[in-house]
Amino acid sequence: MSATVPNRVDVVVVGAGPVGCALSLLLGARQRSVLLVERHAGPYPLPRAVHFDDETARILQACGLGDELPALSEPATTYEWRNGDGVPLLRFEMPAQGQQGWPSANMFNQPDLESRLFDRVETTEGLSHLWGHTAVDAGQDGDGAWVEIEPAGGGARRRVSARYVVGCDGANSTVRDLLGVTFDDRGFYYDWLVVDVALHEPRVFDPPNLQVCDPRRPTTVVSGGPGRRRWEFMCLPGETLETLDEETAAWAFLEPWDVRPDNATMIRHAGYRFRARWATKWHEGPIFLAGDAAHQTPPFAGQGMCAGLRDAANLAWKLDYAMDHPGAAALLETYDTERIPQAAAVIEVATELGKVICIPDPEQARARDEQMAPLVPPGGTTPAPPMPGISGGILADSASAGELFIQATVRAGSDEGRLDDVVGAGWHLVTNGPPVELDGELASWFESIGGRSVAIGTTVEDVEGRYGRWFDDHGVAAVVERPDFAIYGTATTDRDVTELVTGLRDQLEALQGSSVAS
Ligand SMILES: Cc1cc2nc3c(=O)[nH]c(=O)nc-3n(C[C@H](O)[C@H](O)[C@H](O)COP(=O)(O)OP(=O)(O)OC[C@H]3O[C@@H](n4cnc5c(N)ncnc54)[C@H](O)[C@@H]3O)c2cc1C
Repeated sequence: MSATVPNRVDVVVVGAGPVGCALSLLLGARQRSVLLVERHAGPYPLPRAVHFDDETARILQACGLGDELPALSEPATTYEWRNGDGVPLLRFEMPAQGQQGWPSANMFNQPDLESRLFDRVETTEGLSHLWGHTAVDAGQDGDGAWVEIEPAGGGARRRVSARYVVGCDGANSTVRDLLGVTFDDRGFYYDWLVVDVALHEPRVFDPPNLQVCDPRRPTTVVSGGPGRRRWEFMCLPGETLETLDEETAAWAFLEPWDVRPDNATMIRHAGYRFRARWATKWHEGPIFLAGDAAHQTPPFAGQGMCAGLRDAANLAWKLDYAMDHPGAAALLETYDTERIPQAAAVIEVATELGKVICIPDPEQARARDEQMAPLVPPGGTTPAPPMPGISGGILADSASAGELFIQATVRAGSDEGRLDDVVGAGWHLVTNGPPVELDGELASWFESIGGRSVAIGTTVEDVEGRYGRWFDDHGVAAVVERPDFAIYGTATTDRDVTELVTGLRDQLEALQGSSVAS
């Protein structure tokens, strides 16, 4: 962090939750100057998220946390949903090694992750921060945007200008209110009591992660990250969170699980209401929304923070490109067109899962059980709900465009590790076999946007054979991967590869030439 806070930066990020920190770090990695403003003096201390997926792990890797993730998290394997009689309704098995070079599901303690993110922000060149300061106003001018900031305890305001402002300021976002943006709301919400504990002695939970779909008390029992457990209890009709959210009530709920003050420490209990909604637009001119400021989801797919980090990954490379290519406002429009439908689809998945458990009525629960009875054969598993890719925006018209590509272990000389670490993050032209020579001008252009060519089996060794298998399964010879890991497009011949990269250049250049518009 620089000692003084500048009056003008490339980007002001409001809110240093996981999304604001990640966006700042991804911009910092691109040598952009960022001011991160947070109203609290330090990371938010209370646990919230407990799960992140392998795509999120890869984004955190890009934020520089790759070495720290294994100690911060533990892989999740089985996630089972049982009815009130203990009969499985759904059973998800998550592979220990996912498609992004990380376990496909990871359990963690959000404050520990946020603390590492804060450390990283404080030590990254080009990033400034103002902890204990609140953004109270924001607007746009001919030069970009500005934010008015005041010390959280009151005091003199300061104005900082930027080319872009991003509100990562959570569900009650000030920036969103200032933009006057409204929500698409699925109208699906319930109150739950969340209780986090540290057990004094290690204990094996089988299954390790469980949803108890018992109408007498829908309950979540999952890992809370290394050394911690999370219970959540649904507030039933006729109850209020005020009466549930008491320490004695929380211990009473834990008693049937053999969790008591003499064998566990309660880390916290808190009532919350989940929502299923997303903002109708995620930017106005140079002012953007990301994370919970833009969308909120029921927790049952463990995707709220993951979706926010996807926003950060999508927005970071686009803001960076737009700063190098004035007039690329149409590119920034694709933040909305790509991310809103994708986030909404994830919220729909979480809502459908929520409808399985949030049933306090015994008759409705019986009907659900009958309907779902055939879904898990004895000893079998339920296919994971589909996680949608991107279906519009910066994509080629080719197979697999918009899906996530993979990350696996590669070796280059004596350097072995995950591909992003070995070759660097950014645009990748990944070919299966010998490298494809782009012509000089196209190759220079690709390099100018941070593109790297990776020839599997030639410039890098495919240590686990995962890339080879992926190419065989998909019947293609090359992939252009975007900096947010989505596949821009695929190609089958050398000529197709040249066309693919030319198409990318044409598409990006066609999006230039417009001024920043709302
Ligand atoms: C019980 C529970 C369980 C959850 N489980 C999961 C899970 O398993 N997996 C998952 O992915 N997600 C989960 N989530 C959701 C996840 O916690 C959120 O999606 C995530 O914290 C959102 O991150 P964010 O950075 O967008 O917002 P926040 O974490 O809310 O951070 C916003 C920050 O902005 C600051 N701020 C606000 N206004 C201002 C202002 N005007 N000026 C300066 N600073 C400001 C706030 O102080 C805060 O630090 C869960 C949430 C809850 C409540």
